[in-house]
Amino acid sequence: MRTLCFLLALLISAQAFSWSNHTLVSHQLLATIPQVHDAAPAKVESLESFLLANEKALEAFLDQQERWMQENLWHYAPRPPELAFKATGSKDNIRTRFAHAIRVNPNTKWPLYLQLLPGEKRQSPPIKPRSISTLNRFGHLASVQLVQLKPGDKASAVDIVTTATDEPDHGLDIGLFTDSDTDYGKIYGFGKQPFGNPNLEYGTQAPFHMGFYHESSILYALGGFLKQTYPEYRIQLFKQLSEFAFQQGHEYWGWRFMGWGLHYLGDFSNPYHVTPIPGNNVMTTLWVGLKGLIGFPEAQNRAIQLASNRHTVLEDFQSLVMSRAYKENNIQHPTIQALTRQKPARVYEDGHIVTVISQQAYDKAHDLYKVLEQTMPEQYVDNPLVEYSKLNARFSLQKTVLMTSGEDGYNQLVTIISDLLGGFSENGASYVEAILSANTFQSDQANLD
Ligand SMILES: [Zn+2]
Repeated sequence: MRTLCFLLALLISAQAFSWSNHTLVSHQLLATIPQVHDAAPAKVESLESFLLANEKALEAFLDQQERWMQENLWHYAPRPPELAFKATGSKDNIRTRFAHAIRVNPNTKWPLYLQLLPGEKRQSPPIKPRSISTLNRFGHLASVQLVQLKPGDKASAVDIVTTATDEPDHGLDIGLFTDSDTDYGKIYGFGKQPFGNPNLEYGTQAPFHMGFYHESSILYALGGFLKQTYPEYRIQLFKQLSEFAFQQGHEYWGWRFMGWGLHYLGDFSNPYHVTPIPGNNVMTTLWVGLKGLIGFPEAQNRAIQLASNRHTVLEDFQSLVMSRAYKENNIQHPTIQALTRQKPARVYEDGHIVTVISQQAYDKAHDLYKVLEQTMPEQYVDNPLVEYSKLNARFSLQKTVLMTSGEDGYNQLVTIISDLLGGFSENGASYVEAILSANTFQSDQANLD
């Protein structure tokens, strides 16, 4: 049983990024929620300043929050008591004390900055990707404009939240497990990494950015590790921190924490983050695992390679199409229209993260798999001997799709991506509106206006 578990663990293509640049999928959503769009600009504040100003209240809040997590989450690894946040009245180690209490990478840089959209330019001092990310590879951060903010500057809510939605991919969830070879991973209480490759630089974040809530009982029975995922924890953690910051009157951090939680909702709109191998049914997954167990690992290697290639090619296509739409200011593009809010969203409930929010992309996993298979070149999605990312195919991907499957195929891809983004728009707006309706500070302000 143990061995089969292990083999099934290997079956997950734990690519830890979903939509490569989350600002692309969050900006239009945020810009069309009236309460975000119309909010007064917030005064920028460093993390230390926020923590020091609220130290006592934060101690009580995080304590109460930990109890809430233990009682309410689908799966949770309780926080070891010695990590609890203690108010000391001193700024010594305050960022590390906070990082330990919320169990994120304490090397996170927490810079004050904005990440602009593709094609957007502002006359502001730049900030380097290495001041933002703890990773060695900067990915899309290298090709967008990043501008510095200083304490006391004013920034719009749309800008702050949009920027923050990309932040959890820049090192926040790296190295949190006992086998991650970090000092903090050993004390955080998450145990060994349940799946994903601990040797890949970004691989350790996978269990925080993927959540498998809808598998069959037989898969859970054989692969208990499938339950050990933490996006629900992260969404609740940052949603509640956002509400706390707003209640304390520290809007900048209210907006920023809101964006961090929204990141994980964005991940959930990608089928590759809510089911181990989209397109595979339970029996195939088990059969492939079983073959590995009796000494034929090829089937599982093939399955992982194919899932990984499909995941990457989907993400490449989506980011190319959307970057271009933003650069051309093409708000009418179906992907951007799908994110545009016309009316208030479904009323948010805590249970929705598992029952609704992660379900939508799960239900579309098979359709997506079919569309990729029909529209993408076979080399990219159906050849397990190919490592797609090494083909250097990204640059000409849009053209290649047109040549392979014509405008119909191209549009089919845009349609299914827009459909996934439409789900994110509804879920994201539901989450944002819930935070703002809990926000007494804002409604008091509105009463004064
Ligand atoms: Zn993510």
